[in-house]
Amino acid sequence: MSAMNRRAASGAEEFASASDEVRQIYVELAGRPVERQCIRRTECCQFKLTGLTPYLTKGEALVAARALRATGRTKLPAEIDGACPMLESQSGRCLIYADRPFGCRTHFCAAAGGPMARREVVDLIRRLEKIDAQLGSDGPRKLPGAVAAALAEIA
Ligand code: SF4
Repeated sequence: MSAMNRRAASGAEEFASASDEVRQIYVELAGRPVERQCIRRTECCQFKLTGLTPYLTKGEALVAARALRATGRTKLPAEIDGACPMLESQSGRCLIYADRPFGCRTHFCAAAGGPMARREVVDLIRRLEKIDAQLGSDGPRKLPGAVAAALAEIA
């Protein structure tokens, strides 16, 4: 194996390991005794209307990008009417719901119970930030840019 191929292989392993850790954080979040009920109304996916766009750490962006790739897409879908690009316009559903970012799970959707208090999830946030730093990120980015960059990295 050439040095370049070895570097690519170790980068892929690092991304896979980070993705596994992030998914474990999502599992632990789901197990928290905080009552929330997302019924996929997708109101919080309407960034332009809410004026709020989730910020993603790099690990979350990698998980989202890998999930999008698993749908057969290699590029971020176009944003329609200021909604999240992951919101499929025809079905009105999230393309990556099972792998949606942390902010989409601790959402600000009133119907689902409002935002989780930071103290309820701060330990999980710290772990996401640690993975972000380990991946050499400069910090969380808005969802569209974060996922587009992650897609380019895993291409
Ligand atoms: S990733 Fe999915 S759940 Fe999160 S804002 Fe986008 S469409 Fe909504």
